[in-house]
Amino acid sequence: MSILYLSGRASRRRSRQMRIGPVRVGGDAPVMVQSMTNTDTADVAATVEQVFALAQAGSEVVRITVNSPEAAAAVPAIREGLDRRHCNVPLVGDFHFNGHKLLRDYPECAQALAKYRINPGNVGRGEKHDAQFTQMIEIAIREDKPVRIGVNWGSLDQEVLGRLMDENARLANPLPAQAVMRRALVTSALESAALAERVGLPGDRICLSCKVSDVQDLVAVYTDLAARCDYPLHLGLTEAGMGSKGIVASTAALAILLEQGIGDTIRVSLTPEPGGDRTQEVTVAQEILQTMGIRQFTPLVTACPGCGRTTSTFFQELAAKTQSYLRAMMPEWRERYPGVESMSVAVMGCVVNGPGESKLANIGISLPGTGELPVAPVYEDGKKTVTLKGEHIAEEFQALIDAYVERTYGGRDVPRAAAEVREAAVIPIVAR
Ligand code: SF4
Repeated sequence: MSILYLSGRASRRRSRQMRIGPVRVGGDAPVMVQSMTNTDTADVAATVEQVFALAQAGSEVVRITVNSPEAAAAVPAIREGLDRRHCNVPLVGDFHFNGHKLLRDYPECAQALAKYRINPGNVGRGEKHDAQFTQMIEIAIREDKPVRIGVNWGSLDQEVLGRLMDENARLANPLPAQAVMRRALVTSALESAALAERVGLPGDRICLSCKVSDVQDLVAVYTDLAARCDYPLHLGLTEAGMGSKGIVASTAALAILLEQGIGDTIRVSLTPEPGGDRTQEVTVAQEILQTMGIRQFTPLVTACPGCGRTTSTFFQELAAKTQSYLRAMMPEWRERYPGVESMSVAVMGCVVNGPGESKLANIGISLPGTGELPVAPVYEDGKKTVTLKGEHIAEEFQALIDAYVERTYGGRDVPRAAAEVREAAVIPIVAR
């Protein structure tokens, strides 16, 4: 693979393009964000609800496990439930062990899914392996569906690993076991893809992934895989973990590969806190792509960390409230205000860096720090427009954001509410 560096990031690896329902992956399609449910697929209502929430958060494809006859039987109803809510997000079926039987016995499930994920390490042993894998590929051909051949370190095809280990042992200078393991992951994916093509599945209906839970292994495996094929690649650090550990590990791994131009679709596999919000994995995936300058999804708030000059928790509350508000508005704004996703908003804690960051943002507010006048100047497109004060700064700043969005991305007049903010709730602009 040739790597051409432009502005720090390598040009995107050229891959074939495939379609998952209406969603393009690979080629010149933007790097796509996907996610996976953790509901019991047989529970139609719960699964529809979670898929809908993931799609609303911005997941462009959602994977559901199809692990039992009850789950397979539920898939058409899940599709119908989403269609009734005008949610056309493509569903991917995740199959292990019994996928060949489920796809055979539940043809409506096979039809309702937009893609099948097949793990070559979990399709049977010995002679059954190729026969059952072939059976699934034949159904994909019949139903005109693409597949992801998704290799995972935790379920790596032991026959491929054993064969490579034996070959390695016969070398004059054997490689370390870790290097053989990495090679086995890539070999399993490529040999399975070759078999799928021999069965008759066109190459532009195949996507590959080789997930591991270690950052260095992931980078090495995908770098090798990217150099050895032109299938679209799905990136993800499997079993990334909970909280900041999961976010940091996923970001570190994916950022290195994306910076090298590798990756056509990503998932961030976070373990949610008990009762936690599943959509966090979508938010993190989007923020990885957005902060790397690869795609824009939602206006992001630039906020200083706060320090001894910060007067109260109001500054943190305003930054958090503003980010939540922007995210909550995006499902509506995405349709009404094209381009709003690239808007930048600054919420700063004092005048040291506040006005500077505010001027750089599309709209920014600088709250008063210790010993400063109790006023909050607002900048729009680099110019100070109003200065807020009093008890309702948060609400007034939100109204100003609404007005900015309407005026800048909607092509209409400033709404009355924001005009009222300008007239009544602010004090005249004062030079500092
Ligand atoms: S902008 Fe002001 S409050 Fe924020 S970190 Fe810098 S000095 Fe502290």
